[in-house]
Amino acid sequence: MSDILNNLDIIREKIGVAAGKSGRKTEDIKLVAVTKSVSVSRINEAISFGIKEIGENRAQEAVEKYNQIGDRVKWHFIGHLQKNKVKHIIKFVDLIHSIDSIELAEKVNKCAEEEGKIQKVLVQVNIYKENTKKGFTSYDEIANFLKESFYFKNLSVEGLMTIAPFFKEPEDTRPLFAEVRNIFHRLKKEIEGLKMNYLSMGMTNDFEVAIEEGANLVRIGSGIFGSR
Ligand SMILES: *Cc1c(COP(=O)(O)O)cnc(C)c1O
Repeated sequence: MSDILNNLDIIREKIGVAAGKSGRKTEDIKLVAVTKSVSVSRINEAISFGIKEIGENRAQEAVEKYNQIGDRVKWHFIGHLQKNKVKHIIKFVDLIHSIDSIELAEKVNKCAEEEGKIQKVLVQVNIYKENTKKGFTSYDEIANFLKESFYFKNLSVEGLMTIAPFFKEPEDTRPLFAEVRNIFHRLKKEIEGLKMNYLSMGMTNDFEVAIEEGANLVRIGSGIFGSR
């Protein structure tokens, strides 16, 4: 049996259990397979096993793979995005998870306008203030950004994304995920007209805890494809 298929079976099962614990179903959780450093042939294998959404964190790698794989899957951009790279990915990317400044949002809006599309994005949240990670660091910062983002007519803000620090014990991430979930719901309540469809949190090490705490989109790489 293919290692990818075997891994996917295990992950789908765990997603189902974690979803159940938070009163939801497997289908309520979107699985994005993170394919950074994974070859196109292995990505194609995963697609044949039902993967429909894939995530890349580098613009150049995403473009190269898009040219070979195309629109058979939805493309997620999950890494830090430099402003001068936006024009290369705007054509094909479905959801950009990593909006971390008003300047980047402005650039994405401009490129989306030129492309004639409405670009779906998430706001990256870094409430643990890890210097190595990007993102807005407080409720007020996020709220201010969201209010400004309404002026960007070619941007559709769809929710929040966060990357938890690595803990050996996934359980240790629970308070952080819970805090992001609380911010998510508070924003939804306090800012009129926000969509807030996606709460993107959880990776191989911590996706079960993230789902239990309210994530509805998980980004899983090594758990599917093996360690990089
Ligand atoms: C690499 C990466 C992932 C996937 O990490 P794994 O531990 O391999 O599951 C998820 N999100 C982001 C932003 C990443 O860069």
